[in-house]
Amino acid sequence: DYEAVIGLEIHAEMLTDSKMFCGCRVVDSVEASPNTAVCPVCLGMPGMLPVINKRAVEFALRVGLALNCEIQPHNIFARKSYFYPDLPKAYQISQYELPLARNGWLDIVSDSGQTRRIRIRRVHMEEDTGKLTHLEAGGSLVDYNRSGVPLLEIVSEPDIRSGEEARAYSSKIRQILRYLEVNSGDMEKGVLRVEPNISIRPVGSSGFGIRTELKNLNSFRSLADGTDYEIARQAEILDAGGEVVQETRGWHDTRRVTFSQRIKEEADDYRYFAEPDLPPLEIDEAWIVSVKAALPELPDAKIARFEQAYGLSAYDAQVIAEDREVAAWYDAAVDAGGEPKRTANWVINELFRLMNE
Ligand code: ADP
Ligand code: MG
Ligand code: ZN
Repeated sequence: DYEAVIGLEIHAEMLTDSKMFCGCRVVDSVEASPNTAVCPVCLGMPGMLPVINKRAVEFALRVGLALNCEIQPHNIFARKSYFYPDLPKAYQISQYELPLARNGWLDIVSDSGQTRRIRIRRVHMEEDTGKLTHLEAGGSLVDYNRSGVPLLEIVSEPDIRSGEEARAYSSKIRQILRYLEVNSGDMEKGVLRVEPNISIRPVGSSGFGIRTELKNLNSFRSLADGTDYEIARQAEILDAGGEVVQETRGWHDTRRVTFSQRIKEEADDYRYFAEPDLPPLEIDEAWIVSVKAALPELPDAKIARFEQAYGLSAYDAQVIAEDREVAAWYDAAVDAGGEPKRTANWVINELFRLMNE
């Protein structure tokens, strides 16, 4: 008797060469030795001065444009204050009131096979935190290589209705980020992190229920299962006459349950204010136009072209367009004289088999 209401926050590290506000290199968080790509800026030393990474802004523009957002020419960075050992400045430079991109949308295929438009509230730039490793024996290690890595936050409107739709939406965001060469999509490495906000309401009502936010999801399977678990948990509480507590919950990957982590903080708790060490970022129209013109053909357009120009089935077109490099390879094979349908079959059956082997 309930309907789920879900909005997603996605954090994606951007594949720039250097960090968001300093010249340190962005290194692989698993392979690089700890604390080797750091400087006074990303270590939050007193008196350090950040400088905006132009390439990161360009990457963020690509994503905003690909997600059909309005680009805001006038951008302000904001300080989001909180203390944590992985955040040496005790604030994160983010965007708050004036994000780079707003009011976009992304079409996904729903559970029932229909196309559903998920509205995108905002896409903004910020910086990643360091990485903590908690030791079994007690104590924790901190690696600041990740501190200051350019990060994109993509926030949807609460238009998603099930765990499966949350999975469909975020895997499509991942695919687009990979097409745009902004993010590798490597979820095991933590470069793409998805956090659903979940509430339920009686079917037919238009108000919003109290929401919980889920953290620590490291795969699309956990996202779908965690979301469905949370929907069922909230329904049980409401059926018993109780009230859902607004809180941040974790997902236990082996026990497959959610558990309370902390009571949700409000925006006020962060004491947002305009970052005084950075000037407003003015983005001129000509830059937006040139970034837009340079966008690659995106997955939906590619799938439609494969169906129309080559007569492929929707399924085959989707499979080949899944990865931009495979699609480019297929296009080149057809250009070289391959009969489109036979070439598609060959790619899906033979080439993929060889690649797997
Ligand atoms: P915060 O920054 O405190 O997490 P936001 O208002 O920015 O809060 O919302 C974060 C996400 O939560 C958005 O994706 C939004 O769509 C979603 N959201 C807001 N209200 C609800 C609700 N009642 N149920 C489910 N999702 C919600
Ligand atoms: Mg949130
Ligand atoms: Zn640095």
